[in-house]
Amino acid sequence: MPIQPWNAVFLVAFIAYLGIRGVFIRRTKGNEITVSRADSHDRLLLSTVMLSNLLLPFVYLFTPFLAFADYRLPSFAPWCGLASMLASLWLFWRSHADLGQNWSVTLELRKGHELVRHGVYRSIRHPMYAAIWLFCIAQGLLLANWLAGWATFVTFGVLYFVRTPREEAMMCDLFGDEYRDYMRRTGRLIPRIGFRNDA
Ligand code: SAH
Repeated sequence: MPIQPWNAVFLVAFIAYLGIRGVFIRRTKGNEITVSRADSHDRLLLSTVMLSNLLLPFVYLFTPFLAFADYRLPSFAPWCGLASMLASLWLFWRSHADLGQNWSVTLELRKGHELVRHGVYRSIRHPMYAAIWLFCIAQGLLLANWLAGWATFVTFGVLYFVRTPREEAMMCDLFGDEYRDYMRRTGRLIPRIGFRNDA
């Protein structure tokens, strides 16, 4: 089955996304974990996000099984998807780079964990999740299929709304007033309007 140009754009972007992850998984591999709040719920949610992010587009692109869920997109939609994808990849890379050794794929704190408030963390607390939201939107606009396009938007949405309050509670437990003050200065996904962040 021939791959359509916009689907090829999605594939290339997906490989770049995995490449960024791979680099930082390698860089943080030796870290000693001191706190882990990664329970079976978090792992299950993470697995469903990975399945919808990886398996469904793969089935859609290389088999006819999901054709029943195809739809037509207006011609400007994939261009918006491309813009969203480029923004996503930039933010995904910058958030990994700014978190540095403090990054982990799940709810964990490492030995010597530092609170990052610079770079893309200066005015928002969850730039990496913002990048994944942008990726989900791009996926929906590049793949013209309800399941392959939008399933990740739903599964990541559940992960985001379950995980974020738990992650912030974990950060408050470790950093106390420092993190609470950081929360007052920043927005979760978009900067606080009218708040000048001089931290
Ligand atoms: N929620 C953040 C980070 C996702 S990675 C984002 O979307 O950008 C998840 C891990 O990053 C968490 O387990 C926590 O240990 C760490 N983390 C989150 N915010 C942090 C911060 N401001 N400084 C240091 N570590 C942070």
